[in-house]
Amino acid sequence: MTAPPQPDADDDERTEQLRAGLAGVRTRIEAACVSAGRDPEEITLVVVTKFFPAQDVVRLAALGVTDVGENRDQEAAQKVAQVAELIGDRPPGPPRLHFIGQLQTNKAASVARYADLVHSLDRARLARALSKAADRAGRDLGVLLQLNLDPDEEAAQGRGGLPPGQAGELADLVAGLPGLTLRGVMGVAPLPTDGSGAGAAELAARAFERLRAVFDGLRADHPGADMISAGMSGDLEQAVAAGATHLRVGSAILGTRPTRG
Ligand SMILES: *Cc1c(COP(=O)(O)O)cnc(C)c1O
Repeated sequence: MTAPPQPDADDDERTEQLRAGLAGVRTRIEAACVSAGRDPEEITLVVVTKFFPAQDVVRLAALGVTDVGENRDQEAAQKVAQVAELIGDRPPGPPRLHFIGQLQTNKAASVARYADLVHSLDRARLARALSKAADRAGRDLGVLLQLNLDPDEEAAQGRGGLPPGQAGELADLVAGLPGLTLRGVMGVAPLPTDGSGAGAAELAARAFERLRAVFDGLRADHPGADMISAGMSGDLEQAVAAGATHLRVGSAILGTRPTRG
């Protein structure tokens, strides 16, 4: 076991930055809940730590963060191992890991070993690969169906996500696979394009309403589904208004992402 890192001046400064970032985002969530008539207790903040070091995850855990998000297998696997070593058995233990990025089928076995939840399930082949790996590892992996919420579905093909009309079919498949539990839906707001006439906030609001409608539809056959993952640094208010249970927030807390070395 490695000794816990000794606090130094830099560490204190970074911890204070993260504390301020978290406080700002929590204030925004509370205000959005007041506007929407919701209880902030219904909402889980998933802090997206991609590009940032394991030490930041340890600092965030010490500040009360229980859930973190990562979007690349190699980076996530390394960070999970580093965090486990840095935190050790100290309660409350390492934060839950949400895998939120586009996932190649050949990485499914790796992700199934360390992720608690996968938000980016968007095809049958990936569902089968995750199921097989989770079942072999004796794990129960929570999965969310990522929907393509772009009004121009074709243009958004490369960004991942299932056409909303196919969600029911994939949900039924997942429900019958060992090692997986269907938990809900995930969406990313479309990027504003010239000519649409709609601003980013309005596009996000419409996209998240659509996500919510698909979720409500799925619940008829899958009443155990309880998660709507929506909203990032720029549009968490619209997500709260539409009923999101999980917000994925990175830069508003950790700052502008460094370039990956
Ligand atoms: C990076 C990322 C986020 C966080 O984005 P911010 O704008 O930094 O809050 C949320 N969701 C997904 C899928 C991401 O890849």
